[in-house]
Amino acid sequence: MTPNKIRENMQYGIDIGGTKMELGVFDAQLNTVAVQRIETPTKDYDEFLGAIEFLINEADNQTKHPGSVGIGLPCIVNMDGKAVSSNIPCINNKLLCNDISDRLHRYVGFGNDSETFALSEAVYGAGRGYSKVLGVIVGTGVNSALCEDGKLFSSRNRMAGEWGHAIISAVHQQRYNLPLRECGCGGIGCVERYVSGKGLEWLYTHFGGSPLEAQKVVAAMRAGEEQATRAFECFLDIMAHGLAQLVLYYDPDVIVIGGGISNVAELYSELPKRLPKYLFKGVKAPDIVAAEYGDSSGVRGAAILGRRDD
Ligand SMILES: [Zn+2]
Repeated sequence: MTPNKIRENMQYGIDIGGTKMELGVFDAQLNTVAVQRIETPTKDYDEFLGAIEFLINEADNQTKHPGSVGIGLPCIVNMDGKAVSSNIPCINNKLLCNDISDRLHRYVGFGNDSETFALSEAVYGAGRGYSKVLGVIVGTGVNSALCEDGKLFSSRNRMAGEWGHAIISAVHQQRYNLPLRECGCGGIGCVERYVSGKGLEWLYTHFGGSPLEAQKVVAAMRAGEEQATRAFECFLDIMAHGLAQLVLYYDPDVIVIGGGISNVAELYSELPKRLPKYLFKGVKAPDIVAAEYGDSSGVRGAAILGRRDD
């Protein structure tokens, strides 16, 4: 960090994942000033809190002034304030947000990965210039969050936009003869089991292909292979329907797509053709664009969450 970059109004964002936690230090214009990554302690809660405290202390020592703090969490925080996480066992049933704020002795903004993604893209990314920005993640999991004029739409259970766990329509189940797959959430037939990286891989086998990674299924589709073409068409159709449902609920101005599948160029040429089929005639569908910040959206969006004026 160079001395001339040190300002009193630094913003810290921490993106916590199942294996690593990353701290980003940003200036007032959200330019990255410093980045630090450490392993995420997953077994001992005190170690987990200590790791966050360590990152913030390091940043404070460098910037010489306590910055604002926002944290992106890989879990649900239920209405009692308790965390529910599948990949960081030590935080389960803990009053995570309270405990972190107590440790850091300052206000801390919290959000999940789709919330930090949506904020990052809405404020300085691909959603710039639009009012209602729906950030949609399609990768290992499927999720979304809505921002209006740079502010996150928050809901009672903080679950609004969890379209990955909506159930696929009977139309698609019958059109593609799909079994209703069991989901980790306890439901069956969840969209995420068909429209995600793993979902595309499964669809490929459903249409007769041998097990193949998602990006290779896309490559096979581009090469004209029949099973891959059918799998990708099914993927696009269910995704277009899912996005159309979100349009019926939220009517956003733009949909920004991130996550591991967002680099597939065909999403941006093909989804706009398919989405209107699931909307009323004459309705103007939102623009569908790729995320600008990719993997760095986690820390960037977390930093925005930490701003007190938000
Ligand atoms: Zn589910």
